[in-house]
Amino acid sequence: MVYDVIIIGSGPAGLTAAIYATRANLKTLLIAGVKWGGQLMLTTSVENYPGFPDGIQGPDLMNAMRKQAERFGAEVIDKDFVKADFSNPPAGGPFRVSTADTTYEGQTVIIATGADTKWLNVTGEQEKIGRGVSSCAPCDAFFFKEKNVIVVGGGDSAMEEALVLTKFAKQVSIVHRREEFRASDIMLERAKRNPKIKFVLNSEATQILGDAKVTGVKIKNNKTGKISEIAIDGVFVAIGHIPNSAVFKGVATDEKGFIKVADHYKTNIDGVFVAGDVHDYHYKQAVTAAGFGCMAALEVERWFSEQQ
Ligand code: NAP
Repeated sequence: MVYDVIIIGSGPAGLTAAIYATRANLKTLLIAGVKWGGQLMLTTSVENYPGFPDGIQGPDLMNAMRKQAERFGAEVIDKDFVKADFSNPPAGGPFRVSTADTTYEGQTVIIATGADTKWLNVTGEQEKIGRGVSSCAPCDAFFFKEKNVIVVGGGDSAMEEALVLTKFAKQVSIVHRREEFRASDIMLERAKRNPKIKFVLNSEATQILGDAKVTGVKIKNNKTGKISEIAIDGVFVAIGHIPNSAVFKGVATDEKGFIKVADHYKTNIDGVFVAGDVHDYHYKQAVTAAGFGCMAALEVERWFSEQQ
């Protein structure tokens, strides 16, 4: 059987694309992955997704999206995507997309594989995610009213996270491993002008302290080698994301691996669309990923009508 659309990835982008594709009567396969649901499956309370005035647990939101997609007829398989070669698609023929044991054919494909947060990989980090360690200030800043927090990183994301945090936190320290920044001048200046932000340069967070929740951090000065401990309530890691794009041969990406996108949904290959954090390094929100999924599915529908 040839599907009208194969969606790869089951976060908000992939599942929203599946809802729209099935409602447009497109025969839809969603390759969800063994650990389906994306980053929200690792999140506790989501308080900024519209429609849930009291918040919703990340896994509950994803289960609801999946049920909604399946209700309209999306075929969802809990297998990992393994390969697809888009480098030389047969003219007019379907794309071939494989899991470990099966190859599926689709007239079109939507890549919605998301991006993984780059973590510091230091002691005390992973087990405190959601208990003082975060990678999303717009999601979690609210929980740090009048608290002291650090943001690790020296790019635009770090500046932006720090600025968001100043709306709630008492003090925000940006810990960066060098003196030079990757952040744009405008973002850096904005951070420097904010009286709540201070900079701790040439420094790395080497250990996150605390039992049940974050109570402090060990900082190593890269120039002097001196290690100090500071008491803080939260650690925001903003050292970049790793887009899940390496497996797609032939799909153009930028130097960091984000899929190059045109008109919000097109890749460089006709019939291969993209949605969500695998191309969007800017917004990175569940609601924007869902919006991109909607756009991609609507454009798949339009693609079919243009083929006639
Ligand atoms: P980025 O530009 O790659 O910056 C990552 C930062 O994290 C760098 O300063 C890097 O330090 C540091 N870093 C990386 N690995 C580290 C580690 N293991 N330990 C400590 N520090 C580490 O990533 P980004 O800030 O997420 O930005 C990604 C893209 O999104 C950029 O193109 C950016 O302009 C864009 N963006 C734009 C906006 C906006 O315009 N409002 C907001 C967010 C993001 P080094 O400098 O030493 O390598």
